Amino acid sequence: MDCLRFKLYTPTGIFKNPLSIKGIEVYPLPPYSTIIGLIYKAMGKKWNKEHFQISIQGDYEAIYRDYVWFKKYDGRKKKLDKLPLQVPILYNLTLLIHIMAENEFLDQIEKALKEPKEVLFLSGGEYPVKVEEVKRVSCEKKRISEEDDITPAYNAYVPKHHLENINTTDKGILFNLSYFYKNSNKYATVHKYATVNKPKTYNWIDAYYFQKGTYIYGSLMFDEDENPVFLTDLDSDILVEKEQRKQGVCHGSDANEYIRFYSENWLMASACVGVLKVLKKQGEKIEDFVEEKTLKIPKDLWEKLPEAYADYLINDKETTKKLLDDVYKQKGDNINPYNTLIYTKLIDFHSNSPFTNQSHNYIKRLKGVYSENIGEVVKQVKESFLEAYKKLLTISKNISEICFFCHKRQAKNIVDATNFTPLFSSLDTVKNFIWDPIPICKECEFLLYFASAGFYKSGGKYLFVYIPDNLLETYGLNLVLSTEEEVEQDKLGKIWSVVKHVLGLETQKSSWILQNIYFVEIEMVGNATANIYSFNISPTLAEAIRNLINKYPKNLQSVFSDFLFYVYTGKSLYEFLLLLISGFIKKESYKNLEVKTIESRIIQAGRKLDYLSKNLLFFIKFQEVLNMSEQKNIDWAFWEGKKLKGFYTKDPNKEKKLEPLIYRLLEAIRRKDKGYFIHNLIRAYLEVEREIPYVIKESLDDKNFNMIAYAFLIGLNSEERTEEAQVKNEENITESA
Ligand SMILES: [Zn+2]
Repeated sequence: MDCLRFKLYTPTGIFKNPLSIKGIEVYPLPPYSTIIGLIYKAMGKKWNKEHFQISIQGDYEAIYRDYVWFKKYDGRKKKLDKLPLQVPILYNLTLLIHIMAENEFLDQIEKALKEPKEVLFLSGGEYPVKVEEVKRVSCEKKRISEEDDITPAYNAYVPKHHLENINTTDKGILFNLSYFYKNSNKYATVHKYATVNKPKTYNWIDAYYFQKGTYIYGSLMFDEDENPVFLTDLDSDILVEKEQRKQGVCHGSDANEYIRFYSENWLMASACVGVLKVLKKQGEKIEDFVEEKTLKIPKDLWEKLPEAYADYLINDKETTKKLLDDVYKQKGDNINPYNTLIYTKLIDFHSNSPFTNQSHNYIKRLKGVYSENIGEVVKQVKESFLEAYKKLLTISKNISEICFFCHKRQAKNIVDATNFTPLFSSLDTVKNFIWDPIPICKECEFLLYFASAGFYKSGGKYLFVYIPDNLLETYGLNLVLSTEEEVEQDKLGKIWSVVKHVLGLETQKSSWILQNIYFVEIEMVGNATANIYSFNISPTLAEAIRNLINKYPKNLQSVFSDFLFYVYTGKSLYEFLLLLISGFIKKESYKNLEVKTIESRIIQAGRKLDYLSKNLLFFIKFQEVLNMSEQKNIDWAFWEGKKLKGFYTKDPNKEKKLEPLIYRLLEAIRRKDKGYFIHNLIRAYLEVEREIPYVIKESLDDKNFNMIAYAFLIGLNSEERTEEAQVKNEENITESA
């Protein structure tokens, strides 16, 4: 048996599905369709229903998460908007590809890859891809015993059917990957924008991602250089699906019992977590509904889900009574209990939807409805909710596609702003940054409404933690966020407890998973606009947390979660420190400050300090670990600052000059003006008739300026004369806090 083998090299790669919601669904290796697309580009021709077998393996040097700008066209304003999304980017990626097909066809591919008709790119890559070592290799099957198990040199996709014949030490991560196009390629034009790009429908196959170094044995195929080859199997992947489609079977034999959803991206995962929360509240054993990344809901339970969701949103009787009473006191007959109990909880993620659009009679008719009999009011609200659900089911477009989210059911609609407002836009007014319309089935459409329950809401922000390989774990971590009883967590910041858990996963998870566990934060900034941030725990952040977090100043617990926010979003802790010190130094000018933002909260925390102590050097040290700079001792700069203060306070005539000096040094730091800082230092030492310490002059170079200047300024504002007294005072602060 002959295969065509070639290598691809690219400096950067981001792998999304051809139809994927950009940035939220990425893979550690390109999906099959990307490689197929590249081959046809090289041949300079269109796919004509040919099928061949593919094996994809690869390795990369590093993963970085970086912002990628996605464009969104505003049809009304006639301008391009940009939406920043953070995605993992694979650096210095090499791929090892094997293709098996008829000899004649392999000849064509070989020729095309050696002399491509176009410059070739891998999806999302900025740089052309380099094709190397295109060559025919012979392949053969071998039986590998357990004692002789192999460890592949590359990460690999292993199509599911291989697992019948091989054993592995690692479980692998299941992906549902796009493959060849389906034959039917027609698309009903549902909207004026939908005709811009003709969407394509793919076949999807299940494959496990195994990292290099995993031990494998069993029946394996090798090429002549002893590389294992994990080919897709045409028969099982394509023909079985055809057969199923013919019989109208959706997913194996249990399709009649279960409705299935895949949490392949954070959006769908948040919806699945929402459903699990609702079911848990109903007293269901939720473990029964989860298989790895799949949520499977028994059909009879699915029928009851709308009502269960209404119950979940409306909450318990006591809370509801209090809520409605309060609103009635404020608004009187202008009360609308539907809006109080349902609308407010869904509007941010589902504006203008059947559940939130005020023009629908089932919402309008509840205006002014209020009575002492809360049970009756709630009953009417629930009825309206169920009518909204019925309304949702009637919205149906003539679409020939399969649903993008489940890859199985017939789509009935195209995704728009009502499905998830922060990410999508209305097709009537704004062209989506997703250029291809995304078809969605009714089941997945309703499921997305549960994202409102999946995210944890705090202030105007929503937070969700996503673990790519395990839905139950994702549920568990998000539960930690939304558990309200645990007071201890509030004190430390809820995120922190999640971070600790994530750090704990380090030994069990592959590095790809670890780099892709991330927090999604959605901040509503308008009725239908939102900022979406995501942050993950990078290896340097993990190191900083592990080594230093115990030294976090105990008297600054009130801003611990703000500290974490700075760290996760990559904001500099020097900025954090500047706010803190400004609050301390300019207590008077901030006395009317309203605490509304993170920044004002940090300033406020600074105002409350009686003096600055050495424990603030924590922020400098933490930042320097994140900067991956060489660890330096900066304590001496603190003590020099403190010594200078001593010279000033000894002499009552000079003492009053200390405050203006502190102001000027703070200003120099704020402006990052090294010259001004040094100028003021020289003046200060002249003032107290001392020589400026040699170490300060030596160390204040560009690289160290922040480190030394902040440490010095903290020292200049500190109190005790000896280190022991300092430590003692910190302990007192901790006790009284
Ligand atoms: Zn679907």
